[in-house]
Amino acid sequence: MSEEILISARNITKSYSLGRKKRHIAVNDVSLELYKGETLALVGESGCGKSTLARLLMRLIKADSGRICFEGTDISALSGRALKPYRKRMQMIFQDPASSLDPRLRIRDIIAEPLRVWRVCPDKTEMERRILDLLDMVELKESMIDWYPRELSGGQKQRVGIARAIALDPELIICDESVSALDVSVQAQILNLLKRLKKELGLSCLFISHDLSVVNFIADRVCVMRGGVICETADTETLYAHPGHEYTRYLLSSIPAIGDDPVS
Ligand code: ADP
Ligand code: MG
Repeated sequence: MSEEILISARNITKSYSLGRKKRHIAVNDVSLELYKGETLALVGESGCGKSTLARLLMRLIKADSGRICFEGTDISALSGRALKPYRKRMQMIFQDPASSLDPRLRIRDIIAEPLRVWRVCPDKTEMERRILDLLDMVELKESMIDWYPRELSGGQKQRVGIARAIALDPELIICDESVSALDVSVQAQILNLLKRLKKELGLSCLFISHDLSVVNFIADRVCVMRGGVICETADTETLYAHPGHEYTRYLLSSIPAIGDDPVS
C-alpha cells in the first residue's frame, strides 16, 4: 500500500425522492480516500448506502453535492467523452454472477465484449490469446472458452465476471457483495483469487460487504457505514481488536465465531 491516494470522495451526498415531497438521503456527507494498492472495505447492513456510494465513486450516478477525485482530478462534473477514460480505469465485479452474464453468449464473447467496445485487441488472434490469458489468470480451463454460463458453477461464473472486470487492465476494482451469493468454501477460493490478482496486477480494491468475517480476510482498512454515514474508519486489525464505535461493536458481536454450532 502506498501513501498516494487513487480515489477520494469529499462530502458526497446523494438523495432519492420518495413521492412528491419526501427525499431519502442514501449517502449523507461522506468523505473517504482509497490509497493505491490497498483493499478498502465498506461494511454495513443492507440499505445503508454502500452500492450507492460505489456508483457515485464510479460516476455511474451523479452526486447532489460533494467531489470525487481520481488521481487528483476532480471527476464530479465530467460527463460524456471527458468521463470515458475513467470508465475504463474503474471496473465493477457484481454480486450475482448468474444474472450478470448473458446466458445467450459463450464465455469467449462475454469476456471479449469489453475488449471489443474499447478496441483493445484489433485482430482476432490477439483477441483469442487475450481471452485465453484471462481465463488462465482466473484459473479456468482454456476449453471453457466455448462454454455457456449455464454450464458453469456459481464460483466459475464469478471467475468469468472477474476475468471481464480485469480485461481492460483497470486500476480500481469495486467488488459489490461479490462473494455473498456463494457457498462459504467457494467464497474462500474467490477471495484468495482476488487477493492474488490484486497483488499481481497492482490493483486497488473497494470491497463492499455486509459480512465482517469476509472483510477481515481481505481488507487492509475498513469503513463502517450506517444510515448513509461512515461512522468509523480503521485498519482492519485495529477495528477487530479495538472497535471504536458502538455500532462497529454491535456488528462484530453478531458474527458467529468459527466452529460455533447454532444448534447446541
Ligand atoms: P446497500 O448497497 O448498502 O444495501 P443501497 O445503496 O443499495 O444500499 O441503498 C441505500 C438506500 O437508497 C436504500 O434505502 C435504497 O432503498 C435507496 N435507493 C438506492 N437506489 C435507489 C434508487 N435508484 N431510487 C430510490 N431509492 C434508492
Ligand atoms: Mg448493495
